[in-house]
Amino acid sequence: MNFLITGAAGFLGSSLANHLAREGHQVRGLDDLSTGDPQALSPDVHFTRGDVSDRPKLWTLLQEVDVVYHLAARVSVPESILYPRDYNAVNVGGTVALMEAMRDVGVRRVVLASSGPVYGDLGEQPLKESAAPNPRSPYAVSKLAAEYYVRTIGRLWGIETVSLRIFNAYGPGQHLPPSHPPVVPHFLKQAQRGGTLVVHGDGTQTRDYVYVDDVVSAMVAASTAPNVDGLVINVGSGKETNIRDLVKCVLDVTGSNAEVLYNTQTSGGVSRLCADLTLASQKLNYRPSISLAEGLRLTLKRDPRFK
Ligand code: NAD
Repeated sequence: MNFLITGAAGFLGSSLANHLAREGHQVRGLDDLSTGDPQALSPDVHFTRGDVSDRPKLWTLLQEVDVVYHLAARVSVPESILYPRDYNAVNVGGTVALMEAMRDVGVRRVVLASSGPVYGDLGEQPLKESAAPNPRSPYAVSKLAAEYYVRTIGRLWGIETVSLRIFNAYGPGQHLPPSHPPVVPHFLKQAQRGGTLVVHGDGTQTRDYVYVDDVVSAMVAASTAPNVDGLVINVGSGKETNIRDLVKCVLDVTGSNAEVLYNTQTSGGVSRLCADLTLASQKLNYRPSISLAEGLRLTLKRDPRFK
């Protein structure tokens, strides 16, 4: 098949692109390299630098493409609180631009990388796709808006759409910016270097940590699965882990006795997030297979930054 992946030079995009290229598919990647690294892509992936809102570029890249994976986005919850306009422009505006270009060229299907945080703080866990979203950050709002745009424009123009609500993905190659780094690679780095692990809040907040290979398996299935048009589908591990247990696991796999500090003055964000995987199992035959401890070990082994 012919694929276009937006955000292809990013953490999830590059894993997906390399996987599809290894399977013998034709893969084009688009990324503006605002955080992505083209070195992460195998030479078999045809890479183009560009903005996801650049419709003329999209018209060219979309020729002969069967399925688009739309991953290009700004991805930090705390950063989105500081720069909501940027998050709206890239995550919402970029999605609308892509859908227009797909309509113009006539592409069959798009798989959107949406996000667990669209649910916000809901009492009942694990979260089913039928729960009413309650986004708590501009990032979450932008992802929910992107879901609606994809589905609505898709319906109007006969483009099949699937939105995957990915929970806390982690693994080798995850971007590690100096401010607001994602918790898993940040804690691994701190533990390995004997730095302090600072936990926001009291550490009782829970998340669903899912290893990148499991996410890639769901994304791959979403490109060809039947009867998924218009659906939103959770992708996680299905395991609810609080930050205290994540810290224990990180210290265990790294063999570190780094200091842990609980900063109860700062918010730990949404109190609970865990994916119900019933729909993913039914529609995508999705069975996550990598435990948190195993995923952390694989990250240490496969990511040269942790050598
Ligand atoms: P990432 O930052 O590594 O990847 C995003 C990529 O998009 C980067 O390479 C960046 O350079 C590119 N990009 C940003 N703005 C762009 C623009 N205007 N035009 C073209 N490219 C642009 O993040 P990731 O973790 O790989 O996330 C990929 C997607 O998956 C995102 O849409 C994110 O919202 C979604 N997602 C990720 C997670 C996770 O835990 N990693 C969870 C839920 C959803």
